[in-house]
Amino acid sequence: MADVIDMAQDFDALNLAQGLAAQKIKAAHTPRLRAEGYCLNADCEESFNNSAQLFCNPACEREHAALTTPYARR
Ligand SMILES: [Zn+2]
Repeated sequence: MADVIDMAQDFDALNLAQGLAAQKIKAAHTPRLRAEGYCLNADCEESFNNSAQLFCNPACEREHAALTTPYARR
């Protein structure tokens, strides 16, 4: 007979599996950003020397997310 510890472990494993599945779906539906040589925030677009850079700073990334992601947290 399963005791409370077994039940907790089963629940934990199910919770982890569901979390991983949800994250996989989220990742599959999130568009990958490509570095363009300038800040991707449409309100900024500052040029970069670093060709792999996406944004100037976290504030520009947040603004970009707010402008491009429906219902994004601000
Ligand atoms: Zn910027």
